[in-house]
Amino acid sequence: VRSDGGGNIISLTKADHKALSTKAIIEKRLLIALDKKNLKVLYQPQLNLETGKITGVEALVRWEDEEIGIVTPDVLIPIAEETGLINDIGAFMLEQACLQAVAWHKKGLDLKVSINSSVREFRDKNMVQHIRKVLEKTNCPAKLLQIEITEKFALEAEAETSIIQQMKQLETDGIVFVLDDFGTGYASFRFMQLLPLAEIKIDQTFISTLQYQKKAQKLIQGMIQFGKSINMRVLAEGVETAEQLELLTSFGCDAAQGYHISHPITPKEVEKLLK
Ligand code: C2E
Ligand code: CA
Ligand code: CA
Ligand code: CA
Repeated sequence: VRSDGGGNIISLTKADHKALSTKAIIEKRLLIALDKKNLKVLYQPQLNLETGKITGVEALVRWEDEEIGIVTPDVLIPIAEETGLINDIGAFMLEQACLQAVAWHKKGLDLKVSINSSVREFRDKNMVQHIRKVLEKTNCPAKLLQIEITEKFALEAEAETSIIQQMKQLETDGIVFVLDDFGTGYASFRFMQLLPLAEIKIDQTFISTLQYQKKAQKLIQGMIQFGKSINMRVLAEGVETAEQLELLTSFGCDAAQGYHISHPITPKEVEKLLK
């Protein structure tokens, strides 16, 4: 039971109840998982289409809780964003990504590691300090770290100059910012001027119809040309077939990521793939 703020009591529907209790349970279990570092990280390889080599990976969170089972990122991330636990997930992912990048670096494998950041993490005024500290502690060169932000992030950052300033400081350190899910959101073009972005990731929804639709091809060609014209790298995500990869290569796309190249995999599997 809750109030609508106007003094009226509204009773919850069954669905409301279920959603609330699910959220509460996930939050409770997540706190424990974070405390015990029971989250895992998988890495999805990114293929450089010019060299044909894997030159980067995206770190993706994985959580299988002993009591509630697997909680997929689609469920986990929105709840974590709401509760504020996204900052703890972000801190965990950052540290893991840096440790992994350094471990690979020591083996002679120079892989850039991308992490996903939510805008809420950048509302923390100490974000720059925090990232610098983790890089230092793990001995990770800043140039190995990339941070993916969504268009929603960009939209909110636009109104919050402190976030832009933090991004610019980190860019000066050598960290690369990537605009994720490009094309799905808001007024993308404005962000290019405002934010220190070096790469765009064309959203997978554009890639899925690539083989069949001339229109989708034109759209992607346009996005690639746009990116190039302002000196940004362009990566296509959600590449699931050889045909898609071939088309993207012929369009001059810089890099690709997707099941056709590799699913998200463990660090050991990444090393095997590179051999
Ligand atoms: P995203 O950043 O757009 O990540 C790409 C998602 O697409 C991943 O799902 C990946 O497994 C999936 N994917 C990769 N290749 C293909 C493909 O060829 N076909 C299809 N259909 N899907 C593909 P995942 O791991 O379930 O993550 C979902 C979303 O959750 C991510 O979307 C990202 O927004 C968010 N996320 C994941 N890990 C983190 C994290 O550590 N922090 C934050 N803030 N968000 C995260
Ligand atoms: Ca991403
Ligand atoms: Ca994406
Ligand atoms: Ca996505």
